[in-house]
Amino acid sequence: MNKIEHIGIAVKDMQAAKNIYELLLNTVVYKTEEVPSEGVKTAFLQSGPNKIELLEATSADSPIAKFLEKKGEGIHHIAFDVDDIVAEMARLKEAGFVLLNDKPKRGADNKLVCFVHPKSAGGVLVELCQEARAPQPLKGEQKG
Ligand code: ZN
Repeated sequence: MNKIEHIGIAVKDMQAAKNIYELLLNTVVYKTEEVPSEGVKTAFLQSGPNKIELLEATSADSPIAKFLEKKGEGIHHIAFDVDDIVAEMARLKEAGFVLLNDKPKRGADNKLVCFVHPKSAGGVLVELCQEARAPQPLKGEQKG
């Protein structure tokens, strides 16, 4: 694994959180994106080499809605940049980690992603992400 790609923060009110983080980091949100398959709306801020992803639920059954219900607002996941997500997923599976998806999924910000269950990572939801270089659909990817 390479550097931390971003830190994901679950928020109840995206507009309020954007205002706070823009002020805190003295920058502006450079990208917002909805990921319908995950039921989330995302907003990205860059501070030096570091990236923050704000996550707001777009539906009641979104994983973010469930997280907010259980834990309230706060750090939701830590994402690590990887060169080869398929190889990294195979390595972690082999090592006994519980992966939340069998195949890489399309995440926000042009990334292929996979989540590692917090139970296998000291209570932290870990996201692997690889830059999606080619815009072609993934093998076996399901639309919708
Ligand atoms: Zn993320």
